[in-house]
Amino acid sequence: MSATTSSLAELATRVSGRVVTAADADWDAVRSGYNLAADLEPAAIVLAVDTDDVVAAVAHARDHGLHVAGQATGHNAAAHAGVSDTLVVDVRELRSIAIDVDTGRARVGAGVRWRDVVPQLSDLGLAALHGSSPDVGIAGYSLGGGMGWLARKHGLQANSVVAFDVVTADARLHRVDAHHQPDLFWALRGGNGNFGVVTAIEFTVYPVKELYAGGLFFPLERAEEVLTTWTSIAPDLPEELMTWTTVYQFPDVPEVPEPLRGGAFTVFHAAFLGSEEEGAALVAPVRELGAALDTFAMVAPVALADMAMDPPDPLPYRSTTALLDDLPADGIGRVLEVVGEGAGSPLPLVQIRHLGGALSRTEPGAGARATMPGQFCLFALGVVPDYESAVEVASYLQRLDVAVEPWRIGQYPNFVEHPADASTFFDAATWERLRSAKAQHDPAGLFRGNHRIEPATGDRVARAAEAV
Ligand SMILES: Cc1cc2nc3c(=O)[nH]c(=O)nc-3n(C[C@H](O)[C@H](O)[C@H](O)COP(=O)(O)OP(=O)(O)OC[C@H]3O[C@@H](n4cnc5c(N)ncnc54)[C@H](O)[C@@H]3O)c2cc1C
Repeated sequence: MSATTSSLAELATRVSGRVVTAADADWDAVRSGYNLAADLEPAAIVLAVDTDDVVAAVAHARDHGLHVAGQATGHNAAAHAGVSDTLVVDVRELRSIAIDVDTGRARVGAGVRWRDVVPQLSDLGLAALHGSSPDVGIAGYSLGGGMGWLARKHGLQANSVVAFDVVTADARLHRVDAHHQPDLFWALRGGNGNFGVVTAIEFTVYPVKELYAGGLFFPLERAEEVLTTWTSIAPDLPEELMTWTTVYQFPDVPEVPEPLRGGAFTVFHAAFLGSEEEGAALVAPVRELGAALDTFAMVAPVALADMAMDPPDPLPYRSTTALLDDLPADGIGRVLEVVGEGAGSPLPLVQIRHLGGALSRTEPGAGARATMPGQFCLFALGVVPDYESAVEVASYLQRLDVAVEPWRIGQYPNFVEHPADASTFFDAATWERLRSAKAQHDPAGLFRGNHRIEPATGDRVARAAEAV
């Protein structure tokens, strides 16, 4: 028995949950997350069932020369570089939910996914700042930013977080908020899993009884008209309105309802915090193009959870993303040369989201991911069940990258699903401050977010401190 194996066996006696290693029969099942193409082989996975387990796991890793990676659902596991020296602390079982209607706050365990809380909130006339998929974990989403349907009005979810319960490098549980360790609170809201293992999150939810939302479905060959009309009205749309346009190629499988099954569509989606009359007037230029299917209606907020039709089940995929400062006619043409009619694209989803509004403003007290620069955000994915499809998908994703290159101004880290240089996700001052916070709260680099922040050294710490 190796030193690591015997120490993990000892850890197993001190936690109420399980310590799962490669020797366990269910190792592959436990270590796989949403993206089946992510092949993480950590030293072990602690399936924590309470905060004491998280504390024990962090103390164990610290005392035995291992790193720690917090994980909830594995939706962005593919961004991790090597983790063979890392203990994954999996919080999927931390599933408490408490909603306080009077204060407009929800408090959830770090294993809670949006689908667990959005329906309850909706029944209470409340909406949260979730994104396109209800299966995403609230923790990872919030720690990286969190851009959803209400983001142009209410900003990123990270900046609606009011408190974290987090186990830090001292292997103790802290409540961190604007008044308790405010610098750590700032760093957690965008700094990802680099500062500790979060066990619970408290965040603001918003009063929304109903809103005007839905999609206009056009056949793929009308993509250019739809994208041109949409991008021409986008600059004048109010921040109460969020719009996304997506090129979908739906698989020919029974789970996809007719008339979408096996079809290729360009879909304009919108969510408007206002009346049907106002909303209909705002989306009229796109509607007047004559959609094949129109699903707009006044709906309860829960309808937003599945509106984007993200694949609900785990699948192997690769993706690409870009923040764009514009998408002129030339850009639309270049994108459609790769994914438009006749291009032979294998990509089932190529989505462009409108940014701006609250996403472009730094509100007082915001965290490290305060804003989302640019006018549009591109995200595209391809399914890669085998080598041949992986090669083909990689080629189309790369061509898409080249197509948008003239307008690319950065990347949104939650959408970056491969190992990357995290310094490129932040402006220089924010990056220095994050590294300084890392040096202060985790100088030994115990915690490894999937996008890593290394501690600042001497002079960098001083420079960052001066900048604050
Ligand atoms: C289908 C799909 C749709 C998506 N839609 C959107 C969207 O609309 N808007 C958007 O902004 N993003 C979206 N995302 C991206 C998503 O926000 C990120 O993948 C996010 O990191 C997922 O968090 P998770 O907890 O589910 O995943 P995990 O893979 O479990 O976590 C991701 C990372 O978050 C950190 N982390 C997670 N839990 C903890 C914890 N308890 N303590 C410390 N660190 C932790 C770790 O660094 C971890 O590696 C989508 C992703 C997918 C796959």
